Amino acid sequence: MKNLVISDIHANLEAFKSVLEKTKAFDAVWCLGDVVGYGPDPDACISLLKTLPNLSCVLGNHDAAMLGDMDIRLFNQEAKLSIDWQKSHISTENLAYLKNLPEKISISDCLLVHGSPRYPLWEYILDPFVARANFDFFREDYCFVGHTHQGLLCRWDLAREKMDWSSQVNGHLYKMKPKMILNPGSVGQPRDNDPRASFGIFDDESKSWEIFRVEYSVETTQQKIYDLKLPGKNGQRLAGGW
Ligand code: ZN
Repeated sequence: MKNLVISDIHANLEAFKSVLEKTKAFDAVWCLGDVVGYGPDPDACISLLKTLPNLSCVLGNHDAAMLGDMDIRLFNQEAKLSIDWQKSHISTENLAYLKNLPEKISISDCLLVHGSPRYPLWEYILDPFVARANFDFFREDYCFVGHTHQGLLCRWDLAREKMDWSSQVNGHLYKMKPKMILNPGSVGQPRDNDPRASFGIFDDESKSWEIFRVEYSVETTQQKIYDLKLPGKNGQRLAGGW
């Protein structure tokens, strides 16, 4: 099966639609959380997500904040203002959908979480030391994470006690070997200085993994953010991918 792996849509409908247009052929969708937060279209993004085939989705920290389940004081000012606005622009039905999302999902030899297997809602796996600690917190062969908004492929070689770490992962087809932590990057707010929407395809038969990038109309999303008087920085950062 081909699994489309997406994360951190952050209410960016234009980016989300571009990803789906680019990747027509997939059998299942794994979403690693943060469907909402920052952007102008939280409700439409949840509605679109729910239509996708064989969907598995975990809760992100912004999704939890929307539900009032996370201390929003930990958020930066722009994130806070966006969540406050989004709370009154989401349907009861879609809010209930977020409420039912689990923090972890295990699918055969894969684990899905938003941040890390150790602290699913808030830990960022941004360096080999944090990654190393997290390899002790999942029994599956592969762990898919989001949250950092940057692509990552990292492997812990138990026999050699060695860590392979690669953050320059766009456009390479990787053969996967246990144990790995993989991040598909962010659909709606990439932070690797590349503004294009990011997503991964995991083929669970050939055990291959590839990250793709796709352009979308950044200007359209920005204009919506400015028209709605959401924090301007949430729009500006999209153009540079930061
Ligand atoms: Zn996020």
